Amino acid sequence: ARPVVAIVGRPNVGKSTIFNRIIGERLAIVEDKPGITRDRIYGIGEWNGKSFSIIDTGGIELDGEDMILKSIRMQAELAIEEADVIIFMCDAKSGLTQSDEEVAALLYRSGKPIILAVNKVDNLSRADHIYEFYNLGFGDPIGVSGSHGTGVGDLLDAIVENL
Ligand code: GDP
Ligand code: MG
Repeated sequence: ARPVVAIVGRPNVGKSTIFNRIIGERLAIVEDKPGITRDRIYGIGEWNGKSFSIIDTGGIELDGEDMILKSIRMQAELAIEEADVIIFMCDAKSGLTQSDEEVAALLYRSGKPIILAVNKVDNLSRADHIYEFYNLGFGDPIGVSGSHGTGVGDLLDAIVENL
């Protein structure tokens, strides 16, 4: 079986955008389960001759503001259970938030390799915004831009190094 990579993070940081960049259109697998959004949440990624399954845990986000924390907990639990490597995604545009700290707290005890990705690094001025994410304690943040595709190769390098 392929190793499993899960993308975790609060809503709107760009998990699905990066997920789609990693799987590419051809390799998408559609899972149609009731109660789950029609977003594709399972896919297959390939990099440097290594292939892996990838889960966009945001596909299980629930509606309503009071459900956000519950959704994040579900995502994190799914990732911790299923994944061999977890991509923890944050957002350079909004900066580090309390919700990010809450997700981090859930991931600390997982014992799984955590790759910290900071999305929406769309331009050079925003590259500076990744430094505050060192405070999360997951090592070097990898700056990416789902919009432009920059940094996705570095993220894939980090993924396959941890498989
Ligand atoms: P998710 O809720 O974490 O899955 O986030 P989405 O992938 O749905 O993206 C949330 C919003 O952020 C959408 O409007 C995207 O177009 C936007 N977005 C995603 N990646 C980037 C990026 O690299 N830069 C900017 N500026 N916006 C992005
Ligand atoms: Mg999504």
